[in-house]
Amino acid sequence: MSNKYETLFTPVKIGPVTAPNRFFQVPHCTGMGHLRPKADAATRAIKAEGGWGVVSTQETEIHPSSDLTPYPEQRIWDKRDIPALRLVTDSVHKHGSLAAIELAHNGNHAINQLTRAPILGVNEMSADILSPRQARQMDKSDIKNLRYWHRMAARRAKEAGFDIVYAYAGHHMTLAHQFLLPNVNDRMDEYGGKLENRVRLIKELIEETKEEVGDKCAVAFRFAVDEVKGADGMQAREEGRAVVEMLAELPDLWDVNVSDWSNDSVTSRFEPNEGYQTSYIDFVKSVTSKPVVAVGRFTSPDLMASLVNKGIVDFIGAARPSIADPFLPKKIEEGRFEDIRECIGCNICVASDNLAIPIRCTQNPTMGEEWRRGWHPEKIQRKGSEESALVVGSGPAGLECAMQLERRGYKVTLAEANEEYGGRVLSESRLKGLNAWRRVADYRIRFLQQSANVDLFLDSRLTAENVLELGVKNVFLATGSKWRSDGVGRSNRKTLRVQPAKNIFTPDDIMGGALPKSGQLVIYDDDQIYLGGVLADHLSDLGLDIVFVTPANNVSPWCENTLEQHRIQRSLINKNIDLKFGYVISEISEDRVEFECNYTGKKLDVTTQSVLLVTERHREISLYEDLMKLVSEKDSQKFFLKLVGDAAAPGLIADAVFDGHLAARNFERDDGEVEKEFYIREIISLK
Ligand code: ADP
Ligand code: SF4
Repeated sequence: MSNKYETLFTPVKIGPVTAPNRFFQVPHCTGMGHLRPKADAATRAIKAEGGWGVVSTQETEIHPSSDLTPYPEQRIWDKRDIPALRLVTDSVHKHGSLAAIELAHNGNHAINQLTRAPILGVNEMSADILSPRQARQMDKSDIKNLRYWHRMAARRAKEAGFDIVYAYAGHHMTLAHQFLLPNVNDRMDEYGGKLENRVRLIKELIEETKEEVGDKCAVAFRFAVDEVKGADGMQAREEGRAVVEMLAELPDLWDVNVSDWSNDSVTSRFEPNEGYQTSYIDFVKSVTSKPVVAVGRFTSPDLMASLVNKGIVDFIGAARPSIADPFLPKKIEEGRFEDIRECIGCNICVASDNLAIPIRCTQNPTMGEEWRRGWHPEKIQRKGSEESALVVGSGPAGLECAMQLERRGYKVTLAEANEEYGGRVLSESRLKGLNAWRRVADYRIRFLQQSANVDLFLDSRLTAENVLELGVKNVFLATGSKWRSDGVGRSNRKTLRVQPAKNIFTPDDIMGGALPKSGQLVIYDDDQIYLGGVLADHLSDLGLDIVFVTPANNVSPWCENTLEQHRIQRSLINKNIDLKFGYVISEISEDRVEFECNYTGKKLDVTTQSVLLVTERHREISLYEDLMKLVSEKDSQKFFLKLVGDAAAPGLIADAVFDGHLAARNFERDDGEVEKEFYIREIISLK
C-alpha cells in the first residue's frame, strides 16, 4: 500500500514480540469474559480480523480476592482458566495479531461477593463499590502474596499463549494504582509516603512479570498519568511524569491514559473532541525509549497519522472506536474511509459492562453477537427468492434495516415523511451535547445515497393505500414512537386531567422547534434515562428558568451506566436549575402543577405556565393497523409486514439500530431458526 497513512501500517517491536501494525485494541470490557468465553473470543477474533495488530482482553482477575462478581470480567485464578483464555489467543493469532492480557488485582474495587474473601486495600478503607464490608489494610504478608499471585497469573498467561502481559495501574480500580495515588495511599511503611515508596509495588510487579515471562512475552504497563482532579490528585506534569521517569525503561510498552474511567471513557456529550487525552500524555515519549500507546476516541486517520508522525505515540489505542468499527484499520489500509463507522461517544458499550450484560454498541449492532448469532460486521447472507422491500421511516431502525437489506441484494425503497432523513437521531442530535450522535444517521444515509439499488423518498408520509398502490409485498414499518402528553409513565399510571393543552410540551414538541414561553418551565422527568437531563440543560441555555422534578432520587439515574450521571447533575446544579427529587406528578392546571412526595404523599405545588413531560412513549403504529385492516386474511399470506425499532418497542437508539439489523438479517429466514436463536447460550459444564 502506498498512501499517506502508510506509517500506521509499519510493524513495531515491543520487547520480544512484534506488532504487525500500529492499531492497538487496548483492554476493554465485553460483559462476556469468563462467563461467556466463546462469545468473548469471537468478539476479539473479529477485531484481529479487522486489522487490529494487538487485541487485548479486559481486566483479568488474578486471584479469588479480586472477585468482581457479578461483573463477567476475565479471570485467571488458576490453571483451569487457561483453556478459555486459549480460545482468545488462538482466535487472535489466527489473524496474525498479538494477544494481550490485562492482569489486575482490584483491591477495594473487588468486593468478593462470590468468594467472600477479605477485601484487600492499600489502607483501611470503605469498599469502592457500595458494600457494608470494608477493605483491610494489606500487611507485609498480603503484599508478598499479591506479588506471588501476580507472578503466577503471568505464568499462566504465558501458558495460555499471550504475547503481551500487562501490569495495570489505572482507573482507580487496581491496587497497583491505589498504592501510587498520593491522596489514597496513607501508609506509613516503605509502600507509603514519598513517591519512591508508593511506586515500589508496581515496580516490583513489573520486574517480577518480566522475570517470569519476559523471555517470550512483552510486559506492558498501563498507567493513568493524571487523575483529572487538578491539585487534588496525581497530575501529568508533576507526579505522573515522575512515575514515568522512574520506571521509564522498565516495561516494554507504556499504555498511558487518564483516570478515572469516566474521564478515560468520557462521552461526546461532555468531551466532543477526538484526541482529548493527548495534552496529558504527550510528554511520555520524551521520557522513555519504549513504545507508547494512548487512546482518545480516535476515528480520523489524519489525526492518527499525525500523532505517530509527530512522535507523540507509537500505537493508536482504541476501545470504543474498535467496538463501533472492528474493521477500522482494514478500511484505512484499503482507503475505504467513507465506510468507517465512527464511534459516537454515547457509552452504551460501557453501560453494558455496568449492567453485567454482553456488550452492545449503538453504531455496530453486530458487537457482542459474533458468536451467539454468528453475525459478522462486514458480511451478511445473500437474499432469498424475494426481490424487493419497502422500508417506511428513516430513523435509526429504518436506515439500518434498509442498509442491510440492500447489502443482502434486495431492491429497497425507503420512504420518509419528514424533509430530512434520520428520525429521532436527527432530532436528538440537535440538542445540547449530542451532535456526534448524527453519525448514526450520516453513515447510513451516505451508504444508501450511493447505492443504485435504493430509491429514497423524502416528504412522503405513506398511508396504507399508498403502500398497497406501490405494489410491494414486503414492508418494514420503522415508523417510530411519540412521547406521551398525558403524564402517564413509570411512576404514574393515571391519565392526568390536562388543561389547557397549549402549555403542555413533550420532547417531540421541543425537538420539533416549539419553545415554551419565557419564564418558569417545569420539566417532569419520569423517563429517568437521558433525555430529561439533556432537555433541561438545553432549555436552560436558551434562557428558560427551570424547575426539574423527578420521582427519582437524582437526575438521569440511568446515566450512572454511561458514566455521566455526576456530570449531568453538576451541570444542572451549576445552572441553578431547581432540582426536586422523589416527586410524582398528580395534577396539571392552567397555572400550576401538583406533585406528591414518593415517600410521604405530601403535596408540592409549583406555579408555572408551561410543563414539559418526559414520561413514556406511544408506538406509531397507525399505518400498521390500517394495513392490517386493508390486507385481507387471504392476501396476508403473500404480504410480509413487520414493525421495526421504536414502532415495535420503544428503547434506546442502540435498540432501534439492532432491531433494524435483526429484521433485515431475518428476512426470508425460517421462523423456527429465528426462534431457536433465543436459546443459544453457553451452558456451564457439569463435568
Ligand atoms: P426508530 O427509532 O424506530 O428508527 P424514529 O422515531 O427515529 O424511529 O423514526 C421514525 C421515522 O418514521 C420518522 O422519521 C417519521 O417521520 C417516519 N414516519 C412515521 N410514519 C411514517 C409514514 N407513514 N410514512 C413515512 N414515514 C413515516
Ligand atoms: Fe462508541 Fe457508543 Fe458504540 Fe460505545 S456504544 S463504541 S460509545 S458508538
